[in-house]
Amino acid sequence: MNSAKIVIIGGGVAGASAAYHLALRGESDVVLLERGSMQGTGSTGRATGGVREQFGTEINIRMSMYSIDFLKNCDFHTGYDPKGYLFFATEQSALDLLKRNAQTQAEFGVEGIEILDSDEIKRRVPGMNCEDIIGGTFGPRDGFIDPVAVMRGFSKLAAENGVKFELGRTVHRINVSGGRIDSVSTDDGDIGCDAVVVCTGAWTKEIGATAGIEVPVEPLRRQIVWARCNEALPADLPMVIDAGTGFHFRPAIDFWEPSANMVPTSDVLLAYPDPDEQTSFNTEYDPAFSDKVYDLARGRANFLYESTPVAAKCRAGLYENTPDHHAILGGCEVDGLYFSTGFSGHGVMHSPASGRAISEIILDGKASFLDVSCLSLARFARGELLTETGYI
Ligand SMILES: Cc1cc2nc3c(=O)[nH]c(=O)nc-3n(C[C@H](O)[C@H](O)[C@H](O)COP(=O)(O)OP(=O)(O)OC[C@H]3O[C@@H](n4cnc5c(N)ncnc54)[C@H](O)[C@@H]3O)c2cc1C
Repeated sequence: MNSAKIVIIGGGVAGASAAYHLALRGESDVVLLERGSMQGTGSTGRATGGVREQFGTEINIRMSMYSIDFLKNCDFHTGYDPKGYLFFATEQSALDLLKRNAQTQAEFGVEGIEILDSDEIKRRVPGMNCEDIIGGTFGPRDGFIDPVAVMRGFSKLAAENGVKFELGRTVHRINVSGGRIDSVSTDDGDIGCDAVVVCTGAWTKEIGATAGIEVPVEPLRRQIVWARCNEALPADLPMVIDAGTGFHFRPAIDFWEPSANMVPTSDVLLAYPDPDEQTSFNTEYDPAFSDKVYDLARGRANFLYESTPVAAKCRAGLYENTPDHHAILGGCEVDGLYFSTGFSGHGVMHSPASGRAISEIILDGKASFLDVSCLSLARFARGELLTETGYI
């Protein structure tokens, strides 16, 4: 039987970051197993590419602060582009919540969050209909990243430091003996190991169950319309989000295309959390979704009213939701079994923090750069759920 000290299951951004951070700590007897023939075909390669500090809970805010510093300063290309997140409100209750969250963010050290009135929003997003908008917030360190580049950057450095990447290899079972990790069974034989890190995103529940562990991660389809406007988008367009409906838009970028410049400056991504969506592994894009998005988009801006979906570029992927929309980071009652999963739509932006946290938990027993103990799997059994009011 082959063996490795640590096996990582899943080669999306979470697995790649775990590999990178373990390698940085000198752990090279690590193998990452990804069932796809290439990395990024799970949720990572389908993400919108947003990053923000504008959350409502301390842990999400701190994970974002740490991750943005990393994405800005690390040695590889991440595509970090601080164009900002502009949340707007059309109802007083939504504006009050944005303001309360801005205060919470400031208390934890987020700098520069601005409270905007309707005129200022109109000035920052020319062409936007602000008649019903009563205000909003803007985060200047928020903005965009390239999910594929981040995943590839982590992977390249991990591989250069000895981590083995085995693509096209599916893990069917995590084997436990005497309450601790024994091995994993794959479609190409077993691998004996001391530790397993499960980074399987939306597919975590099934693989966790093979080790007898219940992991409450549910898949939920999220769709994105790629549309072409008749005119160039406003310069420096941030991520713009309706805090009431979750409808959002941003300039389009094709993360799989080596040259982002090939995307016309008139292309935009439109999305919203469709309340009709049910738990499922469906990743087919449904053209009827664009009708729903356009109900929200058409009246919001001139440039959106005149836009047309580019069918070949619209896409769908899976959110990996936990009951409280926060990640699961840490071990469980099986010795040597760890989870870095359940990011509930924030896994790319939080990948620098998640990878560092899980590597410290494995090697040191706990994460010391940031207290992530509130993200333990045990919180669900204990009923210690978190509440994120900034979930989109
Ligand atoms: C439409 C959409 C928009 C999003 N927008 C954003 C955004 O703006 N910002 C942000 O931060 N996040 C966003 N997200 C969420 C983000 O994409 C995820 O949180 C993140 O990609 C999760 O990374 P991951 O590595 O945990 O999972 P994945 O990328 O899904 O990787 C899991 C990998 O595990 C592999 N795998 C599963 N089971 C097995 C097995 N048994 N054996 C071997 N391999 C296995 C899969 O093939 C997959 O490659 C968005 C998601 C969607 C769908």
